This record gives sequence, C-alpha cells and structure tokens, in this order.
Amino acid sequence: MPGIPIVLERCAKTFDDGTRALHPTDLAIAAGETIVLLGPSGCGKTTTLRIVAGLESPDDGGRVRFGDADVTDVPIERRNVGMVFQSYALFPNMTVAGNVEYGLKVRGMPPADRAARVREMLAMMRIEPLAARRIDQLSGGQRQRVALARAIAPRPSVLLLDEPLTALDARLREDLRLDIDRLLRSLGITSVYVTHDQAEAMALGDRIAVMSQGRIAQIGTPEQIYFAPADAFVADFIGTMNRVAGTIDGGALRFEGGHVPLPPGHAAPYAMFRPEDLRVVDAPGAHFSGRVVSAFFLGDHLRLVVDAGGETPIVAKLPPRAGVRAGDLVHFAIDASSIAAPSER
Ligand code: ATP
Repeated sequence: MPGIPIVLERCAKTFDDGTRALHPTDLAIAAGETIVLLGPSGCGKTTTLRIVAGLESPDDGGRVRFGDADVTDVPIERRNVGMVFQSYALFPNMTVAGNVEYGLKVRGMPPADRAARVREMLAMMRIEPLAARRIDQLSGGQRQRVALARAIAPRPSVLLLDEPLTALDARLREDLRLDIDRLLRSLGITSVYVTHDQAEAMALGDRIAVMSQGRIAQIGTPEQIYFAPADAFVADFIGTMNRVAGTIDGGALRFEGGHVPLPPGHAAPYAMFRPEDLRVVDAPGAHFSGRVVSAFFLGDHLRLVVDAGGETPIVAKLPPRAGVRAGDLVHFAIDASSIAAPSER
C-alpha cells in the first residue's frame, strides 16, 4: 500500500501539570518516507509520535493532516495507523498467528483472506515456524517480529515505531534493523520511527529530525545532519565532533597545537571537525601536532585521544594498523573542506 503524506502544523503539547513537552512544531513527511525522530530522553519524540497516532491531541491551533484529510479530531482507531512499541503489547496467551490475525478479524476480513494474509506477514518477518507458538514462549527479538507483523497486517497507511529495538541485545538489534529497513522500503509505507540511537537513525531514516527540549533542532538527510550540523547540540549528538578555538589568521585558525585550514567564508573563531577526517602525516606537512593521551584499539579502527594544547582533547579515528600508542607525538593534517562551523548555541 503506497503511503500518504503527513503534515503537522504548529503542533504543540503542554501537559496538565504544566510540562511543555513540545513547542509549536511544523513537520512535513512525504508519502512513503521514513522520518526518524532522534534525541535524548525527554526531548519530545514520543509526544510527537503520539500526536501523529492520535493518542495525544495537540494544543489548540495545532493540526494533523494525513494526505488531504485533517485528522486532528479523528481518534486513533480511525486513522489507519500501525504501531510498534519498545514493549511488545502483544496478547500473551494467544498464538503468534492469533496475534497477527487479531486486527484483521476486528476489521471484518473473511477467514480465508485472514489466513492468507497472516501467512504472508509471518513469511515477511521470517517467523513462519513460530505460527502456533504462544507469545510467552518467544524471545524478545521474535516478539518484536510478531509485533511488526501484527502492525502491518491490516495495511496501515502510516507505521509508527517507538524504540522498537531498544530492549534487544546488540546482535539481534542489528538483524532486526536490517529486516525493518527491508520492510519499510518494500512496503513504501510512510513511517515515523522514534529512537535515541544515532546508528539506528542513520541506517533507517530517509531524513532525521534531531530533537532537543521540545523542538526540532534540525531536520535533514543523515548526510546533511552529519556533515553540516546546524548547531553544536546536533554536532555532538551525532557522532563525535572536535572543537578548537583560536584566532583567525590568513585562511587558518591558529591555536596552541598549530592550526587548521579554513574553508572560504569561515568567520567563527572556532572550528569543528570529525575524528575520521584527520590524517596522520610527517611533521613537515602537519597542520597541528599533539601527544596521544590514550589509544583504544577497537578492531575496525583505532581511536586516539590527543592533547593538542587546547581546552579539550582532540579525538582522531585512524585505520586499525596505524600503530600509534599512548605517549606518541603525532602530527595531523586535515582538509579545509572537512571543517564545519555550526553555531555554538
Ligand atoms: P524518552 O526517550 O525518555 O521516551 P521522549 O523524547 O520520547 O523521551 P516524551 O516522552 O515526548 O520524550 O516527553 C517529553 C516531556 O514531556 C518529558 O519531560 C516528559 O516527562 C513529559 N511528559 C510526557 N508525557 C507526559 C504526561 N502525560 N504528563 C506530563 N508530562 C509528560
């Protein structure tokens, strides 16, 4: 089923106790798009998702549209949304097939069609052999597969996922993430996915909305968010961002350990760059140098913490065989095009 576009217009939420969970927010999600709401605990992700679902109504003046329809006052059961939560919310004493079939029964689908649809969903989530099992006989990952199958069985026009992988261990999370990715792409369903995990956000989001204190701090593709963070909060929340402060001098920013070249138009007295953009070079070609405070061998890369004379140490990500150790003096170079200057707000 092709997805429908979703628009939130000036959606805000203040709870009865005065908590301002969401400041007035506009958000337009294209048909078939997966938007990830990413941010720290309490930033308003779940509240935004619940407003889309119809589990929460926006404060006066806020509107929610699905396609051409204004659904602001339409209750959840008439919005045709599928939902998957961190905790499974499955019927524990029903079988796997019974859980997936439930929503189809409620919608009055004939038994033969239901059976075919259940088989199709179980195949899609790779859980056909579990059809007759009871929910309490399943692992966490299997339960989440059932929850996904149940959510999409009635062909919802919108799929809402709230931290669906958070309760799973790392390996399972990776497996299921790949399956969710495949599912979202093959169904072309409009989806909103809430997480505080940046790797999940980057892997699944067509676009990511990074949220902070009840506002969208930035919305963009994973590449835009990572390479051109709008402010220091976004820069720090996604990956690691180094920051050096100093004085601008002829196209470079000078600080204690040396300098970094600046891209044209850079006017801020500080510069930010990613650990993986640093190259280790010989002293004559170096932009700056520093002493390695710690070196962590992480298998696929070597992570260095370097004292380059600034207020905060610099983190560098090197190939795993770089052979650098704590105590070494290391010389670095970086391209001007790798320097970002998000606002420090
Ligand atoms: P988490 O990742 O911890 O779930 P979140 O980003 O999803 O966080 P929300 O659940 O949207 O955040 O909550 C945003 C703010 O609103 C928080 O301060 C939260 O305590 C508050 N809040 C949420 N629900 C209610 C409620 N029913 N009544 C009062 N305050 C609430």
